Amino acid sequence: MTTVAAYAAPAPKAPLERTTIERRAVGEFDVLIDIKYAGICHSDIHQAQEGWGEAIFPMVPGHEIAGVVAEVGPGVTKYRVGDRVGVGCMVDSCRECDNCEAGLEQYCTGGGMIGTYNAVGKDGEPTYGGYSQKIVVDENYVVRIPDGLSLDVAAPLLCAGITLYSPLKHWGAGPGKKVAILGMGGLGHMGVKIAHALGAEVTVLSQSLRKKDDGLKLGADHYYATSDPKTFEELAGTFDLIVSTVSAPLDFNAYLGLLKTRGALVNVGAPEEPIALNLFSVIGGGKTLAGSMIGGIAETQEMLDFCAEHGFGAEIELIRADQINEAYERVVNSDVRYRFVIDTSTI
Ligand code: NAP
Ligand code: ZN
Repeated sequence: MTTVAAYAAPAPKAPLERTTIERRAVGEFDVLIDIKYAGICHSDIHQAQEGWGEAIFPMVPGHEIAGVVAEVGPGVTKYRVGDRVGVGCMVDSCRECDNCEAGLEQYCTGGGMIGTYNAVGKDGEPTYGGYSQKIVVDENYVVRIPDGLSLDVAAPLLCAGITLYSPLKHWGAGPGKKVAILGMGGLGHMGVKIAHALGAEVTVLSQSLRKKDDGLKLGADHYYATSDPKTFEELAGTFDLIVSTVSAPLDFNAYLGLLKTRGALVNVGAPEEPIALNLFSVIGGGKTLAGSMIGGIAETQEMLDFCAEHGFGAEIELIRADQINEAYERVVNSDVRYRFVIDTSTI
């Protein structure tokens, strides 16, 4: 066991504070990672506030982890000391069900994926996430960060990047497709970059035009404010695909009206309250309303390689650990450009 400095929420809705946690001894197939950077995802806030239901405390959030391998177990074959690696939202799964075998570990049906934090590991101990200086993870749930990507801008790819890459690929974003990204936050700005790199015509649908210049710079072709009712008239029937990254409940009926016939609205946002859906919004026009959750391990590696090939990571605001609570407030107020990343040497 190793004692490691971390930032934790001691109880639901309590501010995060410095503490120490124990990491398990490096097992046969484990990798010990010196964490260098950890992104702040809105999911960290939902969970630290118990917005999705009962959670495990103390909670060390963080599932956008970038670091360097410091030690490997005797059975490890994929990584060596010194390798640049990442860990995303899961640290294990059953490895035997059809989904695990198909590389869809995030949808493991053999007990479910084991979250990087706010979960119980196979050893029966709570898992603790990336707001800490070291983590021990089985090599099969670790990915390689390509040389072309700096670790700080790579960290948010481990959740925000893969959460957009997976549905954009699955739903065919590419040349000739009109794709809208709803919400220009941590996930949304990665959606803009990835959809643009895939060759789609990209529109941002944001509450206001405050971030328009950034959106266009990151690769959007068009940018509209959803606070303006004219947006919904002008864009009616426009999109092949809309990906919603919004963290609060929305009127999806209105957004389904922006799809072409047989278009799809894929939701990745995880608001704390349910939404009201009028099913006529999907019947008329034969539309699809779907969901998507992160991506599998192989697809996460593919996404990192794709981002490196196209020369981009996330747009980040690098912070010290003692700024985490302030950062949480700014994320809740849609005031982040576009991902807070903690320099874990400041913990
Ligand atoms: P974020 O940085 O806070 O971005 C969310 C964006 O949603 C905001 O920037 C804002 O965009 C928009 N928004 C927020 N409140 C709104 C409201 N009341 N009405 C309309 N738009 C609103 O959060 P994030 O880290 O990208 O995460 C977004 C959501 O995805 C969270 O619920 C998170 O838990 C979830 N998530 C899901 C997965 C998955 O696997 N499915 C993975 C990671 C995160 P504008 O300022 O442009 O309007
Ligand atoms: Zn996340």
